[in-house]
Amino acid sequence: MEDAVVLLSGGMDSVVSLALARCTAIPQVALTFNYGQQAADNEVFAAQRICSYYNIKHEIIDLPWLGRIDTSSLQSRREIPQLEVTDLDKDDRIKDTGTAVWVPNRNGVFLNIAACYAESINAAYIIAGFNKEEAETFPDNSEHFVDSINRALFFSTKSHVNVLAPTLNLRKIEIAAAGFRLGIPWKYLWSCYEGGKKMCGRCESCQRLRRAVREAEIDAPILFER
Ligand SMILES: [Zn+2]
Repeated sequence: MEDAVVLLSGGMDSVVSLALARCTAIPQVALTFNYGQQAADNEVFAAQRICSYYNIKHEIIDLPWLGRIDTSSLQSRREIPQLEVTDLDKDDRIKDTGTAVWVPNRNGVFLNIAACYAESINAAYIIAGFNKEEAETFPDNSEHFVDSINRALFFSTKSHVNVLAPTLNLRKIEIAAAGFRLGIPWKYLWSCYEGGKKMCGRCESCQRLRRAVREAEIDAPILFER
């Protein structure tokens, strides 16, 4: 099996992608990015524990320049939109919250940095946790995006590094079910946009996780603030 570099935010999609990818690649190092997001410390802590669990090297990549761009409520002290679970099915509401938390070209930057690492250690793959549900709001979660970036990486890396996104065509409920089947360490996850002591339970990311776990009818020990 070939080696891989993992993008690990510490959220469910990234952890399930890591667990799934272990069937086809050997994850050597996981990268967690600090771009001034409110949950940076929580994500780093979660990713460190997950890397210990899977026995993978962990690297924190600081992107202070991306933090200074500060157009997203993820990064600034602006309020992160809170919603009800029923809002997840309202297109206008989701479009607004998606705009509020959008960081310019974030996944494009992350994948290109991961490609530098991958090429430097002769890793064939980058593992990224995208999903079908959020691709509807965020085009940088979509199959078109992954295909396009793979075409670009064919030219920008000598070793033709390839992005693998094993959850790309799965909805969150399917990802939660896969996570349960694979026995991921639920108690270490951090999916929340906020940087509190517990996951807030009210931001879009928390609500999607909460709905997925509930609808998948799995016993996942995840604690929310409310
Ligand atoms: Zn939250």
